[in-house]
Amino acid sequence: MEDVFMKIIRREIPADIVYEDADTVAFLDIRPNTPGHTLVVPKKPVQNIFDADDETLAATMRTVRKIAPAVRDAVGAHGVHINSNHGAAAGQIVFHLHFHIIPRHDKSEFAFWPQNEYPPGEAATIAEKIRQALG
Ligand code: AMP
Repeated sequence: MEDVFMKIIRREIPADIVYEDADTVAFLDIRPNTPGHTLVVPKKPVQNIFDADDETLAATMRTVRKIAPAVRDAVGAHGVHINSNHGAAAGQIVFHLHFHIIPRHDKSEFAFWPQNEYPPGEAATIAEKIRQALG
């Protein structure tokens, strides 16, 4: 699939860009969850957390931290969700790393995902598998 965010970065298609620096761009999501919903993307075309290098992630998160309070204040919100989908199984549609900043006025605007419980012993088993995967 074409990388629509690269087209925004190159100004080949329009977007409501609110911030740009040497490494990142922030613009309004075209289909906002709430007004002010903003996306922060690196200029470097990495797909997601699985191929992003540390420098690209750090630059992107610096911009997320800069933008988040401005987005909150601009729409008179009281908090934000910072969300990011990595992989189709997680709902990623645009395969160019991005973080959603979504203004929240109160908890009635969203429903948390269900929280489950581990059967006895399963948490320890999974934690060990993650430690092993880390090497
Ligand atoms: P996801 O990959 O699931 O995190 O979602 C990609 C997000 O990009 C969605 O929220 C879309 O509304 C948004 N999006 C897709 N195309 C554009 C565009 N041209 N301008 C702004 N936002 C976009």
